[in-house]
Amino acid sequence: MSGKKAHILAITNQKGGVGKTTTAVNLAAGLASLAQRVLLVDLDPQGNATMGSGVDKRDCSQTVYQVLLRQAECGVVRRPAGQGGYDLLPANRELAGAEVELVAEPAREHRLREALGTVHQDYDYILIDCPPALNLLTVNALAAAHAVLIPMQCEYYALEGLSDLVNTVRKVKASLNPGIEIEGLLRAMFDPRNTLAQQVSEQLKRHFGDKVYDTVIPRNVRVAEAPSHGLPVLNYDHHSKGARSYMDLAREIVERRARLHTEA
Ligand code: ADP
Ligand code: MG
Repeated sequence: MSGKKAHILAITNQKGGVGKTTTAVNLAAGLASLAQRVLLVDLDPQGNATMGSGVDKRDCSQTVYQVLLRQAECGVVRRPAGQGGYDLLPANRELAGAEVELVAEPAREHRLREALGTVHQDYDYILIDCPPALNLLTVNALAAAHAVLIPMQCEYYALEGLSDLVNTVRKVKASLNPGIEIEGLLRAMFDPRNTLAQQVSEQLKRHFGDKVYDTVIPRNVRVAEAPSHGLPVLNYDHHSKGARSYMDLAREIVERRARLHTEA
């Protein structure tokens, strides 16, 4: 795929705790294990994707924050993730200030797009882990992305939140980024024994059809344990159900993309 531009995916959902960061880290590792060149951008001041990638956020003197403020080059700030086989653009608490500091700046919605434009030729995939809000950071992610990956839990209010998100994507499409698409909806932390989860899952498929990934991520304790070791679950316990499901997701995404290329 060398010479081609990276496929940029924003992993987003304004709800917290739905599996965005878990998906970002484990999909990055999954794609890397399929010999894809991957950059993971941590765009959440909590820095969970950074820590989960085995990089201590407190040791990062330069992060995505300086990149957004044009104080540092993306190519300089990125670094290899601990063991996942991908590159990381780290974040820490400093990023919380970016929202305010960017307000009066020119092209404030396009700072991430501008920065990724300088490194996209080095990657097949760039994944952006978004904060749990529809704020300026998320708008930067949506302005930079080719497509949106939405992890969600199949619970009663999930569909309601989804329509807000779909509306935001529509607005971004009309103003900042006409090319943006919804890449897929991921059922994360899924419990097949839960009847409500099954019903919401059916509703999702009715509304969004083949935008819903075939791969389902089950609730799995190894997935939850891995970040405390600074490892993707693939590296922590690659036989676990969680690791296998994230590998399936990586394969599904790569295959879909290959199919789109042959059809085009
Ligand atoms: P978000 O980034 O959307 O806020 P996280 O990815 O941080 O969500 O996930 C929220 C919590 O749920 C974390 O503690 C994470 O370890 C846990 N978690 C995520 N996915 C799974 C899973 N498949 N099985 C078990 N725990 C999970
Ligand atoms: Mg998160």
